[in-house]
Amino acid sequence: MMRQYELVERVQQYDPDADEALLNRAYVYSMKAHGTQKRASGDPYFSHPLEVAAILTELKLDDATIAAALLHDTIEDTETTKEEIDRLFGSEIGSLVEGLTKIRKLDLVSKRAAQAENLRKFVLAIAEDARVLLVKLADRLHNMRTLEFVPENKRNRIAEETLDIYAPLAGRMGIQWMREELEELAFRQVNPTAYQLIAGRLATMREANARAIGEITEALKVQLSQSGLGAQVIGREKRPYSIWRKMERKSVSFEQLSDIIGFRVIVGSLEACYQALGIVHRTWPMVPGRFKDYISTPKQNDYRSLHTTVIGPGHRRVELQIRTEELHAVAEYGIAAHTLYKDRPGEAVNGNGRSSLIAESGAYRWLSQLVDMLAEGDTPEEFLEHTKLELFQDQVFCFTPKGGLIALPRGATAIDFAYAVHTDIGNTAIGCKINGKLEPLISELHNGDEVEIMTSSAQAPSPAWEAVAVTGKARAAIRRATRAATRRQYAGLGRQIVTRAVERVGKPYSDERLKAVLPRLGQSSVEDALAAVGRGELSSADVLRALHPDYQELRHQHASAGGREDGWFGIRRVMGLKFRIPGSGRDRAKEGRNAIPIRGIQGDLPVRFAPDGGAVPGDRIVGIMTPGQGITIYPIQSPELKNFDDQPERWLDVRWDIDEDDPERFPTQIVVNAINEPGTLARITQIVGENDANIDNIKMTRRSHDFHEMLIDLEVWDLKHLNAVISLLKNTEVVASVSRVNG
Ligand code: MN
Repeated sequence: MMRQYELVERVQQYDPDADEALLNRAYVYSMKAHGTQKRASGDPYFSHPLEVAAILTELKLDDATIAAALLHDTIEDTETTKEEIDRLFGSEIGSLVEGLTKIRKLDLVSKRAAQAENLRKFVLAIAEDARVLLVKLADRLHNMRTLEFVPENKRNRIAEETLDIYAPLAGRMGIQWMREELEELAFRQVNPTAYQLIAGRLATMREANARAIGEITEALKVQLSQSGLGAQVIGREKRPYSIWRKMERKSVSFEQLSDIIGFRVIVGSLEACYQALGIVHRTWPMVPGRFKDYISTPKQNDYRSLHTTVIGPGHRRVELQIRTEELHAVAEYGIAAHTLYKDRPGEAVNGNGRSSLIAESGAYRWLSQLVDMLAEGDTPEEFLEHTKLELFQDQVFCFTPKGGLIALPRGATAIDFAYAVHTDIGNTAIGCKINGKLEPLISELHNGDEVEIMTSSAQAPSPAWEAVAVTGKARAAIRRATRAATRRQYAGLGRQIVTRAVERVGKPYSDERLKAVLPRLGQSSVEDALAAVGRGELSSADVLRALHPDYQELRHQHASAGGREDGWFGIRRVMGLKFRIPGSGRDRAKEGRNAIPIRGIQGDLPVRFAPDGGAVPGDRIVGIMTPGQGITIYPIQSPELKNFDDQPERWLDVRWDIDEDDPERFPTQIVVNAINEPGTLARITQIVGENDANIDNIKMTRRSHDFHEMLIDLEVWDLKHLNAVISLLKNTEVVASVSRVNG
């Protein structure tokens, strides 16, 4: 176990101003508090916080963080309280320890809903002070290093949580070595077979790999020094987990992996990085598509390096990372490195100097973005999706026309780009130019793309985008916009239904009146009430009764007159007439006045068409309300309608309201009986095609020696169009008969 003075010395090595007394007090306090407690390994419990503190000295963290690490389990596991820590060590350390206590019991890989809520609490705690996360990561690292002592049945969960959450978080914080160690330790536990396989192969190749590393290192050094460039070259074998990930990602076998060794070239200046790159590219052919300039466009965690792959000595693929000493420190220490290369402000020793430096880092910005997401009121599931997506994906870098940099996860589309620029841009996007060329919004973006988004204020995001977008931000925003649009649709439908119901009994409708009776309806706003009616959760009769209490009488009058139970659904009577006497012109006038206008599925009402109904504009139609789904439209002759005969409250009077230049086509079905001879089918499709109707599907329903009967799914503009197609087919020599299904 590390001695007290050893720990203090370690801290003083990188921070001569560290508060020695504070560290000593924390050491002694924690040791006494944990007393005779033992770890699963049999070691004294105190060895754990001490190791955690030691890990954090490798990150060269400030004295407050080291003290918090020593004390991190005291509130949870001993008699210690937050007040006592505050009193003895100050509120800065008190808050750190309290933050660590809060997140300690959070299970981040439990059932989905709980996991999301836990992750939310977790992010809120670590975002308050990024040092809480750094201590937590060190805590997890030590627990993973000693995983073998934990009972067998708990190991997997801890390892999975490490792979899922902590290793990516260490990566996000830019602490590469910690990410790798966490991954390797967890991989060994979660997938021992794969781990053994890869580790075994690596072992048999070790000698050959070592030789290759030696040769390539030498060749690189020679080339660089001949050009007068002093450089340090480090070659290394890749770790089993990163090899495994690559095998999975590219679906290749171990043998097919050509790059199980990688090289780092460390040079003196940014300029020298590019010089070294030039030398490497001039000496060996580069592999196309592998060059990445993370120096000019850093990763979100501040990582900066040049990456390239060349066909090196012995025709081996050689992966190279070129960076300066300082960039190397950032790559290994990430967020913690921000304290290494900057002059610390004078009060940094005991104040928030280091945490404010950390606050400037890209990793910390990412944390605060997460917190913003929470503030936007997403559901825990949406938040979880966002966070996990963000954790796991590599980046592509794209540019706005003005040169602004937008970093997106790999696989991101122009839709994600639009939402990354601004939610309003995403919500009103109608098209885009990628590198000056018009492209669809669903196009996948590549590194270096310049993207210009075209917007129109009339546009609402398409619900289908949600499946295409990869960033949580875009998906959540699309979902919100879609929800809002659906709600508007329902409210619009509800308004139509209520207005008509009220007018039908000869009363005026106004929002003010509705507002006055909202409490009686149990609704909190006019829009809520109307949307509830539109969804079918609140009946218009109830609204009518609330608006006009005297309606009760009307209802009775009407009921006795019509002999029906529910008065205003006189509409049902009208519909019934239509149903029984199709084509009767008796109630045309009524239809025009009271019916809800239908503009197809792209319109502003929650409308869909009965799948086998095939209603096209010009058909007389009926609407059936389905709670939660809006209106389903049937042609009046549809036999399906009899299923709703005993539910008069669901019938709605509707009429077509289609613009001449509306581009929407409507599906319908026809049955064609044709003579069985070569070319018949071609002739039929030709006639349909020439007349601007689409064939969606053709099904042979009966074949005989002389005739073929086929069912054709057709898309037409309207009834006139359909009738024209039918009569043209009828007049074709190979066609014996044509009829419309449900016609
Ligand atoms: Mn612990």
